[in-house]
Amino acid sequence: MIIYLSNILIKNGFLEKLQKNVRFYSSLNIRDKELTQPENDRFFKYSDLSVNLAEPHMLQQKPNVHDLVFGKFFTDHMFKVYYHESLGGWQQPVITPLENLVFHPAAKVLHYAVEAFEGMKAYRGVDGKIRLFRPELNMERMNMSARRMGLPTFNSNELIKCFSRLISIDQEWVPHSESSSLYIRPTIIGIDPTLGVATSNSAMLFVILCPVGSYFHGSNAQKGISLLADPRYTRAWPGGCGNSKVGSNYAPTIHVQNTAVEMGLQQVLWLYGDDHQVTEVGTMNVFMFFINENGDKELVTPSLNGLILPGITRNSILSLANEMNQFKVTERTITMSEICQLLSENRLLEMFGAGTACVISPISNIDYLGQMLHIPTTEQSKPVHQLFLKTLLNIQYGYIPDHPWTWEID
Ligand SMILES: *Cc1c(COP(=O)(O)O)cnc(C)c1O
Repeated sequence: MIIYLSNILIKNGFLEKLQKNVRFYSSLNIRDKELTQPENDRFFKYSDLSVNLAEPHMLQQKPNVHDLVFGKFFTDHMFKVYYHESLGGWQQPVITPLENLVFHPAAKVLHYAVEAFEGMKAYRGVDGKIRLFRPELNMERMNMSARRMGLPTFNSNELIKCFSRLISIDQEWVPHSESSSLYIRPTIIGIDPTLGVATSNSAMLFVILCPVGSYFHGSNAQKGISLLADPRYTRAWPGGCGNSKVGSNYAPTIHVQNTAVEMGLQQVLWLYGDDHQVTEVGTMNVFMFFINENGDKELVTPSLNGLILPGITRNSILSLANEMNQFKVTERTITMSEICQLLSENRLLEMFGAGTACVISPISNIDYLGQMLHIPTTEQSKPVHQLFLKTLLNIQYGYIPDHPWTWEID
């Protein structure tokens, strides 16, 4: 990955900048390092991509930016490529008009959730250019997730080039607005028409795009969210696949999320273990900013112990925080009793969730064992979560031009 990255970086003259700042292109440090990207010829290639454009009468009406609901509107085209073991592996990649998919009712994805996905965004910058944010990390993670599901892996760079072309074709769908973006959903599914719980010899990888609005509407943008922390529920466990972005992790959370909403709360704070470890919030990584025993400010997030999804926003915040060098930054276990103790000593300053969808989401309340804990996240005079939010948006929307974390799309 480093090799192809360098090509792109040399082209843009970033390499020199990067070498001084190696942290900027470190990978997600996913522990499973067996995954490599060997000989290119096993994988589908951008140079084989064929494009079948939609007829004018097939083009969809573009929704108004203010009406954007997450994942409801899709662009005119999609990318897809099949994998058939019997035909030698990956087939020819294509861009086609958005269309329904047809599978045998025994397709493995429908029975055992043999699938993995990604969530990333393309941003229209202040200069009109469209940018991706660290897409190579999403591809690294998707390959890891696919492998965990017994699905075939692919060459990251070739897929980025293929969906960059898709975005370029549907570029009018990238909102001309800084409160919106184009959500990119790469997905890989096992489609073998056989009911055995076994490797799928056929798979399909597709990418669909949807314009999405901001999670925070207007000025009450950064209103803190209230969470349900109920130790009876858990989303991940040691040896499981909480660290993979696979569909099977999400269906079981819907009922718990509904319970939170019925209680007037917005999201679930996922706990694990007898000591009620804090793992994630909804589908975001969680951060805590507090005053430690030495009286120093410290930013902490759970370490990648297998229960935590290795978020790209998480990784970026950790890099930025280390770069700023203004407070201690640690990755370790956080427990509910530590949160209660810090609150009782007035040492807890901020808690927030972090992920591609809403970037940063401040936390104001936690409903825990029948008591409501109030977190003063939105009451700080110079909150760090706002600093991270602003910096990330400035990079994503091109205010900081040529940032090494961004990839421009022609
Ligand atoms: C996708 C996801 C995240 C955030 O990852 P990003 O790469 O920052 O978008 C965090 N937790 C869970 C459970 C997720 O599914």
